[in-house]
Order: sequence, then structure tokens, then C-alpha cells
Amino acid sequence: LSRELSVSRDREATTQDGVRVTLRANVELPAEAILARDHGAEGIGLYRTEFLYIDRSLPPTEDQQFEIFRAVVETMRPMPVTLRTFDIGGDKFMSSLKLPPEMNPMLGLRAVRLALSQPEVFLEHLRAMVRASAYGEVKIMIPMIASLSELRQVRVLLEKAIEQVKARGLPCADEIPLGIMVEVPAAAVLVDLFAQEASFMSLGTNDLVQYTLAVDRTSRSLAYLASSFDPAILRLIRSVVRAGEGWACPVSICGAMASDPLAAVLLVGLGMRDFSMEAAAIPEIKEALRRVTLVEAEAVAREALRFGTSDEVEHCVAEAFAPRL
Ligand code: PEP
Ligand code: MG
Repeated sequence: LSRELSVSRDREATTQDGVRVTLRANVELPAEAILARDHGAEGIGLYRTEFLYIDRSLPPTEDQQFEIFRAVVETMRPMPVTLRTFDIGGDKFMSSLKLPPEMNPMLGLRAVRLALSQPEVFLEHLRAMVRASAYGEVKIMIPMIASLSELRQVRVLLEKAIEQVKARGLPCADEIPLGIMVEVPAAAVLVDLFAQEASFMSLGTNDLVQYTLAVDRTSRSLAYLASSFDPAILRLIRSVVRAGEGWACPVSICGAMASDPLAAVLLVGLGMRDFSMEAAAIPEIKEALRRVTLVEAEAVAREALRFGTSDEVEHCVAEAFAPRL
């Protein structure tokens, strides 16, 4: 471990006026858990499990998945690991689960929709996660939630998976929180209802920007429109944070927005305290937050919420903080 990293790892993630912020890591491959720890991550806020299904002709077996989840959970213990159920489809094409050709895959059979269409494959996946919960703190998160009925259907399947694991005499945690990604505008609009039924919510701003602004996240020619500083996105984030506070449902963010220093400061001003990002970004974001106060961040967030364009928002935040970050 380099000296720089170990110094950064031991520094607290707090604003200059002492407000504690949690920084966790987004990981894809199991080996990245060690990288996450080395960069000072306080757990894994997003484990993208779809990478288990890539480049293979058959889906991974329950045991293969379990071994990988267990390794990640044990590496991070006692810190929590949020396992996201597979987000296959959209721009994440896979070889081992067959997807129908669609005109608009981003609006098609993706993530939880695909999972619910193949309950046996999904149950194996859930059982592997349930089994891993015996080895550390595991949370399960569902991607692409657009309606309460999807959350309820997943809960029924999760309970079934827990029963099946117990029936085999295998250990699992007494409680496994089940949360959702808020990355489809419908979930953000109905957030007060989701806050009452989900154990936690995590903002997926990559997709939330794509679906709210109707801009394909892979499009180069439209990249200039896909700004997480867009006022529509800020309002959605604000209302998700408020609903989380109001209903005592923890809210975090795991979209790439969290790893941009200016955006991270703005997010703290909007009330966000729990971030997940690629491990390599953690030291920089920690330093950025240590250079600003909550009072300033809140003042800038209030001002930013009054603007009507992403350029104005970004300019306002940059003017206040860019010289320091
Ligand atoms: C997101 O959509 O913001 C997100 C974190 O998930 P992914 O990038 O894997 O779709
Ligand atoms: Mg997403």
C-alpha cells in the first residue's frame, strides 16, 4: 500500500465543519474488494453482479456465485456489502442469458424485468446472496425498479430463497435488507411510497439522467445533454433525500455523479451523506469534502435549485467551490 493511500485511508471523511460522510466503493470483480479496502472504502455500496454472467455460455451456478459473493463479503467484513441483483440487458449484453432482439433495449427486458421473467435463474442468484449473508453484512439491491409491484414480487422470491436455504440446513443472516435503485423516473416520482416499503434506496444517476432526460447513456453525440447538474435531476434527488428523511429510509448514491468533486459537494448540500463510487475516486472525494463546510454546501445547493439549466447550476457550484477542489 502506498504511503499516500494509507494516509488518505486513515483520514476521516468529514466536511470542514465536522459532518460525517460515508464513502463506499462500487465494484465489479471480486478482486476489486481489496482495492476498495485499500482506498479507504467503508464497505461496498454497489456490487455489480452482472459481471458474473459475462463471457460464458451458461449462467454461473448457485455455488459458483455463492463462492464469489462469500469472498467479497469476507474481504470487507465487518463492513457492509450491497449486492445488486443482475442488471443484464440495456447496454449490458450478455451471452449466458438469452435476450430477445428489441428496438429499444434500454427500455426493454433489462435488470429486474429480466429477473422476474426467469424466476428459476433469479432464485438461484438470490439463494447465492442469501447464503453469503452468513459470512458478513449483506444487503440486496434491485436495479431498474419502476413499480411497487416489482419490489413486492422480488420480496416474495427473496423469502422463498431464504426458506430454501434454511430447508437445506445452510446458515444465513437473520435479516437481509432489501433495497432499490432509484434510477427510473417513476421510482423517484413515487419515492414516498418506496421509502415506506424498501429497506434503503440508492440513486443510480447514470440511468436516472438517461431516462429523465431521454438521452441514451451510450450516445456520444448527445453526451452534452446528459448532465447530472440538470435542474430536473437536482429536484428528483432533493425529493428522494427528503422522502428518505421523512420515512427513515436510508438514501445513498452510487451513480458516477458521486465521484465528481463538484457534484459531491452539491450532493452533500442537498442532504446526501452516503456515497458509493469507484474505489480510485474515494481519496479525491474525501479531500474535496474536507475542504468545504456543510453550511456553504447547503447555501450553494439552495441557490443551485433555483436555476433552470444545467450550465447555470454547474457554473454556480464551480464558482463557489472549484478554486478549492
Ligand atoms: C446507475 O445507473 O447510476 C448505476 C449506478 O448503475 P449502472 O451504471 O450499473 O447502470
Ligand atoms: Mg443503472
